[in-house]
Amino acid sequence: MLRPLYLTAKLFTHQRSWACHALYLATIAALLAVSVVLVFYTSGAHSPSSYAVVLPVLLGAAWFGVPGGFLTALLGALLLGLYVPLDTVSVEQQGPGHWMPRLVIFVFIGVITGALHDRLRRQAQAVIHAERVDPMTGLPNLFALRAELDSLLGHRSVDESRMALMLLRATDLAEIIDVIGLGADDKIMHEVAQQLLRVCPEVTGAYRFGGSELAFVIRARDAQTLQRVAPTLHHAAAATSEVDGMPIRIEPAIGIGHVDIDGEPWADELIRRARVALRYATAMEREWVAYEPMIETNQMGTMELIAGVEQALQAGEFELHYQPKMRLGDGQPAGAEALARWRQPSGEIVLPLAYMAKLEQTSLIDEFSRFVIRTAIDYAGSGLLIPVSINLAARNVGDEGLIDTLIDSLQASGTPAAHFEVEVTESALMRDPETTARILGRLREAGIGVCIDDFGTGFASFGYLRRLPATNVKIDREFISPLETDAKARRLMQSIVDIGHALGMTVTAEGVETEGQARILADLGCDYGQGFLWSAAQPADDLQAWLDANGFAVGHRS
Ligand code: C2E
Ligand code: CA
Ligand code: CA
Repeated sequence: MLRPLYLTAKLFTHQRSWACHALYLATIAALLAVSVVLVFYTSGAHSPSSYAVVLPVLLGAAWFGVPGGFLTALLGALLLGLYVPLDTVSVEQQGPGHWMPRLVIFVFIGVITGALHDRLRRQAQAVIHAERVDPMTGLPNLFALRAELDSLLGHRSVDESRMALMLLRATDLAEIIDVIGLGADDKIMHEVAQQLLRVCPEVTGAYRFGGSELAFVIRARDAQTLQRVAPTLHHAAAATSEVDGMPIRIEPAIGIGHVDIDGEPWADELIRRARVALRYATAMEREWVAYEPMIETNQMGTMELIAGVEQALQAGEFELHYQPKMRLGDGQPAGAEALARWRQPSGEIVLPLAYMAKLEQTSLIDEFSRFVIRTAIDYAGSGLLIPVSINLAARNVGDEGLIDTLIDSLQASGTPAAHFEVEVTESALMRDPETTARILGRLREAGIGVCIDDFGTGFASFGYLRRLPATNVKIDREFISPLETDAKARRLMQSIVDIGHALGMTVTAEGVETEGQARILADLGCDYGQGFLWSAAQPADDLQAWLDANGFAVGHRS
């Protein structure tokens, strides 16, 4: 609706160059001269043709407002009065009584038209301002950003490799609004924009991009400076500021889009890239991410996979593979972790890495985990003598119905509850600590094991962990891989093992790949190990064959 109005408004407020001004002045002067000559040759000032002078007067008013209208009218009326006779045939001259009233009429027309045009121009400026400015923060908006990018990218003097668009999202703005009220968001976004403009000279413009997003145009001296800007901006945006007398700190995520050599330097493409990068940064919980085509391929791939999960569940394309967990003391199997594998119709196996993080955020994880529970309980009841663990997502642990299903199905299967374990990552536990603790308590009451997965990578406090009814902690792979080469890593591992034991839990190290790591872990008092050193996850039958081949008598109860 606003678009035609805006385009008309642009016409009125178009910035003119000096050359354009000169051309307009020359046109007015030429028209004045032509109209005076025309009057001269069409029998003189008494003829109606003298009103031809009104044309340059109107143009003068349109192009230069009241002064333009006034001066052109004055000049036209004087030229006509002083140099053109009343009648060219009789050569009768004009007296003031002839040219004075004409001068008054021309000036009147010039001034009124000029005033009208001035008013239109002001209104047009107001329309443009309204279209380009976010009324709540006073910051320019997306529309203004597009225009700015278009003009920058179209400019030959701008080196695109030193230009970037940065999108910043306040990831926790909704929570802040809940606490300090609606309207706070505008003030916070305004404050953050001003803060970044102050601290970073490379930022040449700040724009309101959406409710919780700001866009910044960055122009740096060189590509290295551009690299340094992102952390600086993240740091500045995360600094505490004051809004309505209250200290406020937002959690920013940053996506950066820039134009590479083969890229199309279009404003919309730049904005799109920054959005892709921002979405990636938010999803991966990273402070900032610069666009690369690779992240897009990943996201596209994930999107397609997620779209296919429901059908794949119905078609039975998912299976569980099992990875043995070994007791480090005597080298005997002590459990098996169920890990999801998606066997595509092509035969290709897709690993959870490609889709699980996203799937865990959707409601599909409910049906998915019900499949995992069913399949793993069947496996645990198939005569295996070691406990089976499954992985549950944060959403599952808040879902009483799913937990009921798990407890009931396990009871119905006749498998001892102690032969079943649920793994939940430390970070998932922290999403809703109270509910999680209560639900894990229910699992423990039923006799089911509870394992804190990826221990050491989340942010659970010791106080919380102490109250958590878990039986086992599983230490993340990143702590295991440097064990053989780094003394500090060994001391850290010692502390983690001690903490696990102090909390009354058994300790498992995951991702054990070498004999050396296994020996160090055993020396440090770690109870169990899991990893490629012994076996990767494999289908139930293959695991059975592996157990048999290695002489482990844990295969079948009966
Ligand atoms: P996780 O629970 O930490 O599982 C351990 C991952 O490490 C598995 O990857 C496993 O194959 C891999 N791994 C085991 N030993 C080694 C080793 O020695 N070296 C290396 N480099 N890797 C090793 P996978 O199967 O790709 O699973 C990745 C993640 O996906 C799992 O991490 C888990 O968080 C999730 N996941 C897998 N299956 C399920 C499931 O059924 N439900 C849910 N909610 N998440 C699942
Ligand atoms: Ca796990
Ligand atoms: Ca893990």
